[in-house]
Amino acid sequence: MSRLTAITGLNRDEVETRLHQLGEPDYRATQILDWIYAKGAMDFEAMTNLPAALRSKLAERFTISPLRSVEGTRSGDTTRKYLYQLHDGRYIETVLIPASPALYGESSDRYTLCVSSQVGCAYGCKFCASGLDGFARNLDAGEIAAQVLAAGEESGKKINNIVFMGMGEPLANLPNLLKAIAIINAPWGIGIGARHMTVSTSGLAPQIREFADQPLQVRLAVSLHGASDEVREKIMPVNKKYPINELLDSLRYYNSKKKQKITFEYILIEDINDSEEQARSLATLAYSLNAKINLIPYNKVEGLPWARPSEAVQEDFLNTLTSRGVHATLRREKGHDIEAACGQLRLRKEQEG
Ligand code: SAH
Ligand code: SF4
Repeated sequence: MSRLTAITGLNRDEVETRLHQLGEPDYRATQILDWIYAKGAMDFEAMTNLPAALRSKLAERFTISPLRSVEGTRSGDTTRKYLYQLHDGRYIETVLIPASPALYGESSDRYTLCVSSQVGCAYGCKFCASGLDGFARNLDAGEIAAQVLAAGEESGKKINNIVFMGMGEPLANLPNLLKAIAIINAPWGIGIGARHMTVSTSGLAPQIREFADQPLQVRLAVSLHGASDEVREKIMPVNKKYPINELLDSLRYYNSKKKQKITFEYILIEDINDSEEQARSLATLAYSLNAKINLIPYNKVEGLPWARPSEAVQEDFLNTLTSRGVHATLRREKGHDIEAACGQLRLRKEQEG
């Protein structure tokens, strides 16, 4: 596969510099970026206001997107899952999620894209498919940003919300993540507002501080999944490195720097973290940080022993939180089985091949 430089990984200055090296003026960069990000051109031949000789020079040196689409699947509720192959033959997945009609109405044009940041994951949470095969490598900025372009092109939908909740730990790949966010955010680039992007982390405290120091108002979600060290440690090895107190310190720092509310993600796993006592501790913790809680019934991963609790247990857990004045939601939609448990489609593909 091609190892040409991907334009989706370059910021505007870098595109200009590359064009200077080819003896071209700055306005060529404007033209090319406009073709890619405003007009959706996926090859240089389509750029009809560029001289033919420049188009072929560009095609010899660059590619627009470094991703090769391998397959797409759909679930009943029109969630779509895309599998992309990278230049080294590895796979990543990207999931397009239409807004829930229950929350946003039947005619909503809100589309959220769940983007991967690494191939595999080194953090080995016990319930997650992404870490099952360990960590392979970081995605570069072009591979991250191109997912938005490629999924937009394949679906024909305008993506207006990004969640870094696909495969990998985004804060373990911070420089590439930040560069990709800048390209996704830029007016000359994909043009999605920072407040419409959410980075999800398993709780890397030092990187949360670094992330808080960035100027963009990107949102932060923290995968908590346990409200005490004892419970969290059982399912998230990262808790040994950054126990809850240390994590909370970094989140207080984040709160001191940003206006956005933090979101705690909490997967409900039967008999592991779904007790009344955990719900009470979680409420205290979230209240102290003015954080929202997003409860997600566990999505079964083949080969792993975990299950989701009954709906009654889920509702009780939610009630314990809300009765304590905490803003909490429970994902109740059906048919979203394809969307959660990111990492499974790619795992199957790697096992086949
Ligand atoms: N590494 C980051 C982002 C990717 S995971 C993080 O851990 O936050 C995105 C979310 O999906 C996390 O909250 C993760 O805990 C959750 N998740 C992983 N496996 C899941 C499963 N089988 N069912 C439901 N949620 C899952
Ligand atoms: Fe990695 Fe996040 Fe999965 Fe944990 S939940 S293994 S940090 S991708």
